[in-house]
Amino acid sequence: MAEHLARGVKEAAALLAQAEYCIALTGAGVSTESGIPDFRSPGSGLWTRLDPMFFTIESFKADPAQFYRLGQELFAVIKEAEPNDTHIVLGELEKRGLVKAIITQNIDGLHQKGGARRVLEIHGSLESASCIGCGCRVSMEGVIGAVLDGILPPRCSRCGDPLKPDIILFGEAMPPVYQEALLEAEKADCIMVIGSSMQVSPANLLPRYSENLIIINREPTVYDSRARVVLRGNTAPVMRSLLDELELCYGL
Ligand code: NAD
Repeated sequence: MAEHLARGVKEAAALLAQAEYCIALTGAGVSTESGIPDFRSPGSGLWTRLDPMFFTIESFKADPAQFYRLGQELFAVIKEAEPNDTHIVLGELEKRGLVKAIITQNIDGLHQKGGARRVLEIHGSLESASCIGCGCRVSMEGVIGAVLDGILPPRCSRCGDPLKPDIILFGEAMPPVYQEALLEAEKADCIMVIGSSMQVSPANLLPRYSENLIIINREPTVYDSRARVVLRGNTAPVMRSLLDELELCYGL
């Protein structure tokens, strides 16, 4: 690990050790090392292949079959993905009381698979889908099965309207759990922002609630200038070093 990164890990560990209420805010970058592409990484992000319009609610309503046609590859990758060291270390930090909650923009469920318990999924999850007509809720398993059988779009067995995965598309209101995330951010005296470009609103307002910001991201973010520590690297090895540092230097 480069010297400046190692120094940053020490500073981040010191902040974390002092904090009384640290929370993590994560984005798609924490799951790229599990094989799930993010939106904005140059060369590999989904934006390089898919029009951002595809992720809007208007586009879903206009052509739900196309949404599933274009989305099914991503859904399949997410279904098979396994947590990496970032998810596992965050679960461990939570278990040790060093992180009180994980607010995630991700829809992949990998924090929970990695052992975390208090996970606030502010953009929903791919666990279930709901009918856009009657609101009837079903498991995403059956929806994916229908898509693989060529049923596009999968429809509600009650009213026949299309089923939409329970994820927040651009143009949709935030779910009630966002209020809970706001309260967590207000309580926090330290926020770690991990693997997010911080370009999606209103999630990108949450880091404003703490003066003790730790940013872990491969590329610069809009919050770097106000962060106490910026760790510019891949999240999995950085998080593993952070845990090692907390154990070795603070016995935590
Ligand atoms: P984003 O694509 O805008 O930003 C991801 C950031 O992570 C980039 O700045 C990139 O440089 C960085 N990054 C990528 N891999 C990294 C790594 N291994 N280590 C360190 N940094 C890395 O994603 P975002 O900020 O989360 O916001 C976009 C939206 O993407 C969110 O609303 C989220 O719902 C959605 N999304 C989620 C998933 C998922 O659930 N895994 C996947 C794609 C998109």
